[in-house]
Amino acid sequence: MKSNYDLIIVGGGIAGSALGRSLAEQGKQVLILEREKIFRDRVRGEYVHPWGVTELRALGIYDLLKQTCGHEARYRVNQIINGPPSKTRDLVETSPHKTGSMHFYHPKMQEELLQAAEHAGSVVQRGSVVSDVKPGPIPTVIVREGQEEHTYQSRLVIGADGRTSLCRNWAGFTVNHDPDRMLIMGLLLDGSGAPDNVVHYYINPINSEFSVLTPLGNTRVRCYTGFHQQDGRRRLSGHKDIDEFVTTSISAGAPRDWFVNATASGPLASFDCADTWVSHPYDNGIALIGDAASSSDPSYGCGLSLALRDVRVLRDLLLTEKNWDVAGHQYATEHDRYFDSIHRLTNWLTMLMYEPGPSAAVRRERVFARLTEDPRRLPDLPGLGPEFPSDEAAYRNLFGDDD
Ligand SMILES: Cc1cc2nc3c(=O)[nH]c(=O)nc-3n(C[C@H](O)[C@H](O)[C@H](O)COP(=O)(O)OP(=O)(O)OC[C@H]3O[C@@H](n4cnc5c(N)ncnc54)[C@H](O)[C@@H]3O)c2cc1C
Repeated sequence: MKSNYDLIIVGGGIAGSALGRSLAEQGKQVLILEREKIFRDRVRGEYVHPWGVTELRALGIYDLLKQTCGHEARYRVNQIINGPPSKTRDLVETSPHKTGSMHFYHPKMQEELLQAAEHAGSVVQRGSVVSDVKPGPIPTVIVREGQEEHTYQSRLVIGADGRTSLCRNWAGFTVNHDPDRMLIMGLLLDGSGAPDNVVHYYINPINSEFSVLTPLGNTRVRCYTGFHQQDGRRRLSGHKDIDEFVTTSISAGAPRDWFVNATASGPLASFDCADTWVSHPYDNGIALIGDAASSSDPSYGCGLSLALRDVRVLRDLLLTEKNWDVAGHQYATEHDRYFDSIHRLTNWLTMLMYEPGPSAAVRRERVFARLTEDPRRLPDLPGLGPEFPSDEAAYRNLFGDDD
């Protein structure tokens, strides 16, 4: 039994590594357990909104990522077929913190952050698969390392094990799940003609489809496309479905030319967009962060920013509050506030943009006219994120009084 740690973090993704790094830097004894020896392309987020870039800066990892793997985009274009007029948005000019978005190849970002956590003083064990977590005044973690099993204890255990987190089940949290609506598929492309400094978001409400192209630099883009599950369309995955993936992206509005010379440089994989979350993600010595706490609809690209917000909020509380049980509960209360806001806003957008059927089409026509009149009614997910109002008045402001 090894028990001289302040914190044991299960998972070395962006959430676990960033938290481990920032607490080790402040002298805390941190152990990070990561099951993968080498990070591979799992088709995950590679686009950080401007409000998330502000979190990168607050955590002191903006420069590290920018120098090792980051690519910045200054502009964003949202184009909605039959929707309000599309305009190129200058994120630096118009976002509250005057910054663009940051993009990186996800496996490279994970390597860099986990190394940074180690350099800051965390003990990092890779190839360590956590097989159980037991809550309590001194929480316990059971780990498989090769043929052996080890038990570790610490003041606090952090579940940062991603969207299919088992930590939350072992610790007895209830996991909430939105109804299935959209599916998202992602593919890495090299040699695309898409511009390097613009994020493009295409929406085709008629077919309930979208396509997002986020630049990674040097003609590399991560392309996501998606559609509504109600239409009975099948999930796309593997090499055989790449042509259909491209056809769907073009049908959603992406320019055909951008795919002509592009080659696939990674796997094609599909995921449910439905949010999963734990209400109040702290109890009895276990805190959940990142996707383990709440996995937000990937098509809106808020997951990385939310994970970074979790890390900053929890870090600040653990460094200022001596009683970590109190700190854990305060983190969980604050987490619910900002996650619930993103959850409401993205649900409104999914209902508005993709809901199939005649009454949804009538609503869209009415709301698109309101957005043409005043585009500021559209939730500002890139700039304000959870700080965009999401109360009843904001709902009325977007949808009008007839909804
Ligand atoms: C298709 C898709 C597109 C997305 N696009 C965007 C986007 O553009 N922008 C955005 O902001 N977000 C996006 N997201 C969401 C974003 O990827 C996640 O929010 C983010 O990666 C969550 O980070 P995390 O550290 O919480 O989890 P993860 O990155 O999943 O890290 C969890 C880590 O825990 C490890 N682990 C798991 N179980 C164990 C165990 N038992 N023992 C030890 N280690 C374990 C895993 O190996 C992994 O390294 C997207 C997600 C998907 C699926």
